[in-house]
Amino acid sequence: MDHFDYRRGQLHAEDVPIGDIAAAVGTPFYVYSASTLRRHYRLFDEALSWGDHLVCFAVKALSNVAVLKVLGDMGAGMDIVSGGEYARARAAGVPGERIVFSGVGKTRAEMRQALEGGIRQFNVESEPELHALSEVATSMGAVAPVAVRLNPDVDARTHAKIATGSRETKFGVPIDRAADVYAEAARLPGIEVVGVDVHIGSQLTDLAPFREAYGKIADVTRMLRAAGHDIRRLDLGGGLGIPYTRSNSAPPLPVEYGRMVQETVGDLGCEIEIEPGRLIAGNAGLLVASVIYVKSGAVRDFLILDAGMNDLVRPAMYEAHHDIVPVRARPPATPTHVYDVVGPVCETGDIFARARPLPPMEPGEAVAFRSAGAYGAVMASEYNSRPLVPEVLVDRDQFAVIRRRPSFDEMINRDTIPEWL
Ligand SMILES: *Cc1c(COP(=O)(O)O)cnc(C)c1O
Repeated sequence: MDHFDYRRGQLHAEDVPIGDIAAAVGTPFYVYSASTLRRHYRLFDEALSWGDHLVCFAVKALSNVAVLKVLGDMGAGMDIVSGGEYARARAAGVPGERIVFSGVGKTRAEMRQALEGGIRQFNVESEPELHALSEVATSMGAVAPVAVRLNPDVDARTHAKIATGSRETKFGVPIDRAADVYAEAARLPGIEVVGVDVHIGSQLTDLAPFREAYGKIADVTRMLRAAGHDIRRLDLGGGLGIPYTRSNSAPPLPVEYGRMVQETVGDLGCEIEIEPGRLIAGNAGLLVASVIYVKSGAVRDFLILDAGMNDLVRPAMYEAHHDIVPVRARPPATPTHVYDVVGPVCETGDIFARARPLPPMEPGEAVAFRSAGAYGAVMASEYNSRPLVPEVLVDRDQFAVIRRRPSFDEMINRDTIPEWL
């Protein structure tokens, strides 16, 4: 469920007409609904209310500081994967005790930054990382709280580019090496073992792979405890999928996910951490664009938009589907026309949808991409020297620009011409 509905003939974000935002900001822009973000966070929080838990928003899905503040103010923790994301979480007012640090390639500088600023836990993904972290912590007179990310070798049954839980991926330590790696961690002076971590992939639409992975994590937790390790937290990662179309079968709900977590690991008495990104942010955001031209093609007509693959890369990168809807409502029985919906970028891959039925569209009118809140703005680039797309936050009847569109000067002034040229 989201808060983007037609009212009085026009698509609204909560109580704000999209046309009002377009008039103030210009297209293209992303718009997020604060009420939807809060609602999705609350669904996870309630789904785990049977025990101690912390819902850590995966910052990489949508990292605008204002969005992080909406969630942080509700008590959310943050799952971060870089020093930049750590800085964003702190700028949003989230304390270090609620930040977990994931990622396969943490640098020593990032480790130092987090230990200095405060951190709940490092999710360590390899032995070399464990040694580096112990050295950094020891040099600071600190001890780093650690969960080791285990790779349970399960098939997440999702798009290959976002599956992380099988053994040939770069993620985590093979689960059959857990005993050795935890024994090594226990020997290192700068490390304190606090838990076990797992994350098997993104956009999972079935609970079975989670159930399989968490069953293995429960077994390994019992084994590690028997070996004397104080496993008191389980970080179960993110990955629950969202419906990208209104028609396809809906993925499991957070409440069903929470019940499955209780069934698989609930008897261990661990504090549960989860790291949802997409489910909290995905359907809380739209990308709004305008039609520049309607061009008749040899095969189909093209709808050429002012948004391109640099603004929303998911269709080009993951063959992802986004529902595209006109901002101005049409009468229910309006006949459709079939378009290829494309951007202005000079790449054949700059195509959002092929043969998409839409009501007949006019140049200048606005369209919205649904489910664009997660992995949308964060993956945007300035390819073709198109300034980064702005972001807007709506909360009931208010809206504010939370990242403005840079001017051409701001974009160009980051380049420097050497004196000797
Ligand atoms: C990407 C990622 C997440 C979030 O995944 P979603 O599918 O957006 O819920 C959580 N944890 C880790 C370690 C990740 O890499």
